[in-house]
Amino acid sequence: MTLFDLTGRIALVTGSSRGIGNAIAAGLGRAGATIVLNGVDKARLEAARETLQQELGPGKVLASAFDVTDAAQVEAAIGDIESSHGPIAILVNNAGIQRRVPLLDLAPEDWDLVLATNLTSAFLVGREAARYMTARGHGKIINICSIQAELARPTIGAYTASKGGLRNLTRAMTAEWATSGIQINAIAPGYIHTQMTQPLVDDEAFNSWVLGRTPADRWGTPEDLIGPAVWLASDASNYVNGQTVFIDGGMSVVV
Ligand code: NAP
Repeated sequence: MTLFDLTGRIALVTGSSRGIGNAIAAGLGRAGATIVLNGVDKARLEAARETLQQELGPGKVLASAFDVTDAAQVEAAIGDIESSHGPIAILVNNAGIQRRVPLLDLAPEDWDLVLATNLTSAFLVGREAARYMTARGHGKIINICSIQAELARPTIGAYTASKGGLRNLTRAMTAEWATSGIQINAIAPGYIHTQMTQPLVDDEAFNSWVLGRTPADRWGTPEDLIGPAVWLASDASNYVNGQTVFIDGGMSVVV
């Protein structure tokens, strides 16, 4: 399956110390890539690096702790990966947070934090990576959106705005960088069981709403996102530009 082979490519996945980012990183690694894990909690990041390295082997998993919302940290980290380890061929903008508060009660600081972590981060990390990718004439960027890039629900207004923005940032990046040989696409997961959604899984009413609303009749798992991520990171998607692929068990196509 050479079309999907990532051997020799370096992949940076933001927010990959756990959850969806960690599963995607593992999947890209199994397809041959050398992985750079990222997060802010250094102990959790190092534990994740050691675990993945046990599977992929020595030298195949690196860790870069930086805050994706901090422009100076992002610039330094991308520069360090490029100079110390080699060219970043694949970037997955995955780091994200949630604040479940009705808009009327939402503090402006929480709005800002969600927008900074889920949207501005992709601009900051994507721009630094693209400086190198555009000069080389190739690269892959995958932005992790959400079903909330398209649909809204009460209590998650900032998140919904951030993911809608990220979907359109994917198009804006495509408008500017596709001509340099970079493919920028987005994955929009539906309801995936991770630490972020554990409170929803534990809420009996919400859990039955998710199951009733999802044609596949189950929560997604982080592993459900690996196939689409490998596709969008590989040569198999070389003429796929600016698209958002919904991986949601069918939730976004039914009422
Ligand atoms: P999660 O389990 O809460 O993990 C979040 C990851 O992001 C952690 O590794 C965390 O690192 C990292 N992170 C948070 N803020 C960061 C920052 N400022 N700088 C660097 N890293 C940061 O989340 P998840 O459920 O896997 O979600 C991952 C992505 O998928 C998010 O963008 C989310 O919106 C999206 N998504 C999730 C679902 C779902 O149902 N779970 C559905 C659709 C979309 P630390 O460990 O250091 O805090």
